Amino acid sequence: MLIVMDHNATPEQIEVVNQRVRDLGFTPQPIPGGHRVAIGVLGNQGYVDEGPFRGLPGIRDFVHVTKPFKLVSRDFHPEDTVVRVGGVPVGWNEEPVVIAGPCAVESADQVLAAARAVKAAGAHLLRGGAFKPRTGPHSFQGLGFEGLEILAEAAREVGLPVVTEVMRIDQLDRVARVADCLQVGARNMQNFDLLKETGRVGKPVLLKRGMSATLDEFLAAAEYVLLEGNRQVILCERGIRTFERALRNTLDLAVVPYLRGATHLPLIVDPSHALGRRDLVPPVARAAMVVGAAGVMVEVHPDPASALCDGPQSLDPAGFRALMADLRSFRPGA
Ligand code: PEP
Ligand code: MN
Repeated sequence: MLIVMDHNATPEQIEVVNQRVRDLGFTPQPIPGGHRVAIGVLGNQGYVDEGPFRGLPGIRDFVHVTKPFKLVSRDFHPEDTVVRVGGVPVGWNEEPVVIAGPCAVESADQVLAAARAVKAAGAHLLRGGAFKPRTGPHSFQGLGFEGLEILAEAAREVGLPVVTEVMRIDQLDRVARVADCLQVGARNMQNFDLLKETGRVGKPVLLKRGMSATLDEFLAAAEYVLLEGNRQVILCERGIRTFERALRNTLDLAVVPYLRGATHLPLIVDPSHALGRRDLVPPVARAAMVVGAAGVMVEVHPDPASALCDGPQSLDPAGFRALMADLRSFRPGA
């Protein structure tokens, strides 16, 4: 970090900053400029928090050289991380992965029908939420632990690893017994305690981008998980809130090549939640693959018209088969 001093900062003020740098265990390196001084902070291993310097007199600005997400950054870990979800590799240069299944676990018949359909069409992983973070408390909240058992049973039957959401720390152990990958949803992307605990469980984590999170905040959230010793993190872009209202969210696919350069963690795209409309899911899933996503996650329901959650964006089995055929046509093996 560089601490830029005011042009009229006094030598005493500069010395107070130097001393604060030393107190933090770093070395201050004054860099004289034309009419102002900057103080370089040397000796840091990672990001230096500007908090201890804020409010000291004579400081004009802070320039960060290191980003606040060292572990997720390619700078410190150039090779791709390949996350293994129940044996399925997920990585920037692996075969693109397709995660499919219903938004919510509604019943044993519903999940089994969805699981059979997505397996038959070639999905690699089964998704389904037993715990649902709903905007309003009157909406279907998910079947909870009972839903987890239903999901586990369907996954066993068709032989697909499972991705399912965990919303609270006190659910973690039981969710982790069923899940091959723990999903942390958009609304919990900055639930830092939950992130830390998921990092300790030792299962892969699928971290969805918060609906108003910048990419730096997204990566900093992943850093919480990695800091606990768990590198097995898959990022998921699911669109963000903007002024645009025509679709459910705004999906910026430039994020895919940007994050490929910024992080070794794989990124998948969720066009279902990004768009909110099933007719737009197939072309955008294809586009995500074209820009190099490590995979896609799509919602599939045996009868979308009767879905208790996110029916309008859910593909039916035939729609999902067509999507898989399309993806295979230009990415063999997808
Ligand atoms: C989901 O994938 O089930 C979900 C709730 O999505 P998001 O957290 O992206 O809204
Ligand atoms: Mn959903």
